[in-house]
Amino acid sequence: MIAYAEALRRVLDRSRLLEMESCSPADARERVLAMPIQAACALPLFDNAAMDGYALASAGGTLRAGGEFRVAGVIVAGGPIPAGTSGAAWEITTGACLPDGFDCVAALENTERLDDGRMRLLADVSPGQNVRRRGSDLMPGEPIALPGQRVEPALCMALAALGVERVEVRRRPRVAILSTGSELVADPSLPLEPGKIRAANAPYLEASLRAFGAEVVTSLTLDDDPAIFAAELQRVAVQADLVLSTGAVSMGRHDFVPASLESIGARLLFHKVGIRPGKPLLAAMLADGPLMIGLPGNPLATAAGFRFFVVPALRAMLGMAQESPLHARLSVASDRRAGLRHFLKARVDHDTHGLLRATLLDGQESFRMAPLLKANAWAVLPNDVDETPDEAMIDVLPLDPGGKWDFG
Ligand code: AMP
Ligand code: MG
Repeated sequence: MIAYAEALRRVLDRSRLLEMESCSPADARERVLAMPIQAACALPLFDNAAMDGYALASAGGTLRAGGEFRVAGVIVAGGPIPAGTSGAAWEITTGACLPDGFDCVAALENTERLDDGRMRLLADVSPGQNVRRRGSDLMPGEPIALPGQRVEPALCMALAALGVERVEVRRRPRVAILSTGSELVADPSLPLEPGKIRAANAPYLEASLRAFGAEVVTSLTLDDDPAIFAAELQRVAVQADLVLSTGAVSMGRHDFVPASLESIGARLLFHKVGIRPGKPLLAAMLADGPLMIGLPGNPLATAAGFRFFVVPALRAMLGMAQESPLHARLSVASDRRAGLRHFLKARVDHDTHGLLRATLLDGQESFRMAPLLKANAWAVLPNDVDETPDEAMIDVLPLDPGGKWDFG
């Protein structure tokens, strides 16, 4: 058995950075950037009116209330931009370009239109007032996004405003799933014979992988037959960047995954990690290249293995930084065996002072799915003590594999 930190290091060392590809900003949504992006032009593109009103040329001094100006015409957003006419005012709509030499806008409600085609100021207007200056939001060359960052709606907005047509992103990780267990029935329309159960791990992994932006290239449910497993492993190895298996990694007579790996010449990185749930987890390099992670069959061991091994591996493949946990105060003391790093289903919420508080949920055994339905976090308890006292600060990670918190 090796410590979690060492096991994770071995997995990350073998998580190969994926190639990049280019796509449109619309298709880049939730993809991971492979190159930095800089603003190619200024935003706003030109000096424009922040309000409906009258554009004026201040000549550097405040225009006083009571001043009257001839109205030279109307400038609408997107319409033609007239040459500035000195001494005049232009009626202007929000977003319309100011004529050369015009540098302020009197808001419509602070003006009065006179019968003779002139307008009067009802309030002072200072130079630059109600004008959005060219480049005051972004200047050309200004960095707007970094490699490893996911393309979120906010970035889509900026990319569109800047007229970006293509962005460089990492190729989606291709993942193959092999679920082992002669007791498993994957098709929900089939009846269950006595002793059989519905296969739950692959749907969990598939949903989590898709939510993360990975592609599931294949997902097979296999009987406990070492030869079939070995053959399928070799077949999927050539299609995938990462192979996940579930089940058959413990010590029982049907726990054949380690022997199957050996039979096809795979190189074991480790088998058994000091974690709970998920202690029998293993990782290997398949002969054809891809990393393989053997998750234990208990659904919650699969879930913990996914969150604490597979997600970090995918992040490394995508060039993303690893997550930093938040720190929350533990509500109730927890008594867990030292020597193992415990991953516990938890609710993390804000207390009355707005500080984070973690409540460990009842029923942490690795067959129980019900607590996962209530959890919004994984709490990580230190592995060097038997008891973590209440009010201790502990590490917490969001349940969401994408790393977003839901404190709802
Ligand atoms: P194993 O790791 O193969 O010894 O499986 C441990 C436990 O998890 C057993 O009770 C299995 O029936 C159960 N199990 C294994 N795979 C799945 C699965 N895909 N869905 C639900 N339960 C599973
Ligand atoms: Mg099994």
